[in-house]
Amino acid sequence: ALAERLESAWKTLRGQDKITENNIQEALREVRRALLEADVNLQVAKDFIENVRQRAIGAEVIAGVRPDQQFIKIVYDALVEVMGESHSPLAHVEPPPTIILMAGLQGTGKTTATAKLALHLRKEGRSTLLVATDVYRPAAIDQLMTLGKQIGVPVFEMGTEVSPVEIARQGVAKAKELGVDTVIIDTAGRLQIDAEMMAELAAIKEGVQPHETLLVVDAMTGQEAANLTRAFHEQVGITGAILTKLDGDTRGGAALSVRQVSGQPIKFIGVGEKVEALQPFYPDRLASRILGMGDVLTLVEKAQEEVDLADAEKMSRKILEAQFDFDDFLKQLRLLKNMGSLAGIIKLIPGMNKISTEQLQQGEQQLKRAEAMINSMTREERRNPELLASSPSRRERVAKGSGYQVADVTKLVSDFQRMRSLMQQMGQGGFPGMGMPGMN
Ligand code: GDP
Ligand code: MG
Repeated sequence: ALAERLESAWKTLRGQDKITENNIQEALREVRRALLEADVNLQVAKDFIENVRQRAIGAEVIAGVRPDQQFIKIVYDALVEVMGESHSPLAHVEPPPTIILMAGLQGTGKTTATAKLALHLRKEGRSTLLVATDVYRPAAIDQLMTLGKQIGVPVFEMGTEVSPVEIARQGVAKAKELGVDTVIIDTAGRLQIDAEMMAELAAIKEGVQPHETLLVVDAMTGQEAANLTRAFHEQVGITGAILTKLDGDTRGGAALSVRQVSGQPIKFIGVGEKVEALQPFYPDRLASRILGMGDVLTLVEKAQEEVDLADAEKMSRKILEAQFDFDDFLKQLRLLKNMGSLAGIIKLIPGMNKISTEQLQQGEQQLKRAEAMINSMTREERRNPELLASSPSRRERVAKGSGYQVADVTKLVSDFQRMRSLMQQMGQGGFPGMGMPGMN
């Protein structure tokens, strides 16, 4: 039903020729509803919607792209961006051991996640020691021991009579003695946010100086995830989170709350009770899930295609009007890179297969150099290559910044200008890849 409502909101936009303050209202309302249904915290949803509104209204109208598609893409991109652009890995320090402290309320899956992480690290060739500091429930120690045995990872415990801070300290000392790579400290939780628990966590943190403090959040916590995260982050300080129980039918809005409130990334998700049920967190996947549309990725891809197409048209117009600048050139270079090695592409072009591998490698090398030099240019210089053509001191600065010779920069600039006028002469026809700087 939600997907349908969003669909109808997109439809309202579809008939328009661009996104405006007025015609975007309904679509934004539907996105907000989608977020709330996915258990995103109210304030977090409001902030997010505001962010999307500004992006959408400020968005450049791209010819040929329908406003609804542009809007879907803006929402999706904003969601992915807020949740962290890509998977962020666990800390790994030298010299070992890397120390990871687990925090969270009781029943969220801390102990399970401790074992899951150990198994995950073992698959990466990292050895671990698990430390049991939940001294309030003897069963908690047994639980960790059992899990440790199951995955073949040692567990350090000192019973229930020693303080958690002391156990943690000795656990880390043991890890050094054993020479293990990572030590994961499981802690006791409470049913709700509790001063004693926070003080204990803060003391352990102070005592062992962990490299990671991971907040374990039950995805079914819903709205409360925001307050919970705020409390742990303010009172203990976290470096990331693990979102558990995503195998249920929750849509995972808690992820957005955790991220927005703490600014720290979700690093892993728990998707089952078994020790294998841990996955790296990928923001794009959860973005689709939060929006509640299985096919949102397809929609986004389609929108992206249209944006790219419109971009390509814009680019060729620029070429014709001789407005093609270093920024555009860089974009093209990166596109080439995404498409695979230059050699692979050039071989596909008729008549180009006589080029030797050596020549190709040289060409690729030169493109890399060009990229390095362009990266050292100021924004202004990229937009206006004439600035460089007319100023030896600017060329010198770019040379210094990129680690190349002034002569290289001079050649890049003059090649670029030559290419640009060549492109202009070629007009509609021709292959713009010919005569690229450094390719002659
Ligand atoms: P702790 O009190 O925070 O240490 O939580 P536990 O690790 O003891 O887990 C509490 C319960 O949640 C146990 O029954 C676990 O099997 C279950 N659990 C933990 N992680 C997940 C998960 O990702 N999915 C599901 N379905 N259950 C989980
Ligand atoms: Mg536990």
